[in-house]
Amino acid sequence: MATDWDIRPRASVCAGCETEFEDKQPCFSLLRFTEEGYVRADHCADCWSTSPPEDRGVSMWKGVFLLPPPPDAEPLEQETAETLLRRLMEEDAERYADVIYILAVMLERKRQFIERATQTRDDSLIRVYEYRKTGETFLIRDPMLSLDELEPVQEQVIALLGGDKQPDPEEEATQDVQPDPAERPDS
Ligand SMILES: [Zn+2]
Repeated sequence: MATDWDIRPRASVCAGCETEFEDKQPCFSLLRFTEEGYVRADHCADCWSTSPPEDRGVSMWKGVFLLPPPPDAEPLEQETAETLLRRLMEEDAERYADVIYILAVMLERKRQFIERATQTRDDSLIRVYEYRKTGETFLIRDPMLSLDELEPVQEQVIALLGGDKQPDPEEEATQDVQPDPAERPDS
């Protein structure tokens, strides 16, 4: 079975006319599932409108091509949600499924990830995220965590991101989950 876990880069040329994309040019992305797994194709606006792909596949979205940023001059000394996500997907995506999903949600909240589509495959819900900075597509399986399961995973993520820095877990944990003021007793 083809893996559901995958990162698909955005092409630098149009799948139709093979013209190189220019910075900030609109592009139309198509993701279809084949026997070899997920296949992504990016098209320029002309090709998309004059000869739209016959098999429109399972997911389509319109994006903007951005020239890839220059590589970081210095290696990152600190693990970020993005680098951790990539590392875990490479290491053992099945094993870290819960953590990977939480990281993807974090990146979406930070507006670094855009959710482009969802797909159901083999009874799994696959969320299709695009990484804004590079246009890469991340295929992330939603592990359907219950509220009870969510908290230990969030703690695990915080610990993994903490590294040697050891940030105050209380402070980290409350960043995204604001207590409802209505639930606080008046003091
Ligand atoms: Zn084209």
